[in-house]
Amino acid sequence: MHKRITHLRAALAERELPALLVSAPANRRYLSGFTGSYGWLLVTPSAALLFTDSRYTLRVAREAPAFTLRQVSHEHPFPKLLLAAVTELGLTQIAFESAHVTVAEHRGLVKALKKKATLAPVENVVEPLREIKDADELTTLRRAIALTDAAFSAVVARLTPTTTERQAAWMLELAMRVGGADALAFPSIVAAGPNGAQPHASPSDEPLGSGRPIIIDMGVRLDGYHADMTRTIVLGEPDARFWAIYTVVAEAHRRVIAGLRPGLPAHEADALAREHIAAAGYGEQFGHGLGHGVGLAIHEGPALRRASPNLGSAPLRAGMVTSVEPGIYIEGWGGVRIEDLVLLTEAGCEVLSQAPKLNHE
Ligand code: ZN
Ligand code: ZN
Repeated sequence: MHKRITHLRAALAERELPALLVSAPANRRYLSGFTGSYGWLLVTPSAALLFTDSRYTLRVAREAPAFTLRQVSHEHPFPKLLLAAVTELGLTQIAFESAHVTVAEHRGLVKALKKKATLAPVENVVEPLREIKDADELTTLRRAIALTDAAFSAVVARLTPTTTERQAAWMLELAMRVGGADALAFPSIVAAGPNGAQPHASPSDEPLGSGRPIIIDMGVRLDGYHADMTRTIVLGEPDARFWAIYTVVAEAHRRVIAGLRPGLPAHEADALAREHIAAAGYGEQFGHGLGHGVGLAIHEGPALRRASPNLGSAPLRAGMVTSVEPGIYIEGWGGVRIEDLVLLTEAGCEVLSQAPKLNHE
């Protein structure tokens, strides 16, 4: 954690910010180790304070030893404690995470600070630090991914054409929880036949059926970290149209895995898949981006998607963990998506997801 605080202080110095108030739960956990549901961090070049209430006093001592606890209570609400810290540290400006502070909270803080310090909105100060995973994070991610793979393999063998999407989703959830997951990373997607034409369908009472595509998108959350994996399966015999579409997606996926490397701009990674899918005539049927980073959030940087004119696309770096999830979605027929998590390495990338895929010989 000390290393992460050092990195944050460097980022603050670079932006000439004297202090950062951190309230996004994933950022709070990343910097401090604190897993409680309520808390604020105040980080300056010399101080690292954690404000939370009595529910979490013992937990702070155990999880966040690098931070000094300031206990919030009825008599000492957070805005009042922040004013005391500002006075003590001689701060005249505090940056806050504008994407994670409500208007009401902001109003309360401005009032409490009584013009002693101003609040400056900032974005994406901690998030870029989270994009590169350290050894501890990779160990946890690998465990979460292995658990996800195992749950998929155990359940897929027991699915039949009369199993409904909802039942399949529950079987997956049960397998993930019994396997040791803290929770699901997100509600599982099980989408059979035409339901799979929506990339993010919700499970229904529709039976899985036979001979048609079934998209299964699932992942566990373990010690705060998220896994994310999609397979498209068929019960019974797939037809020629299925194989034609599946082969395009599988080849797009393969091209990305072969082409990912540090230095490659994120939008070019997206293009590796998109150009292949478009050349096969399905460009319009691949609406979403190629992939997203995972970690303490299920969706985080880097974003592997088309470049937009005003948004640059940063080069990929070794140590990033991202999904690679090309797909084709056809109204009235269904969809095919294949999603693996991969780790960017100095040499290219390592595919972390190991759940079996369909293989068309
Ligand atoms: Zn997914
Ligand atoms: Zn994903």
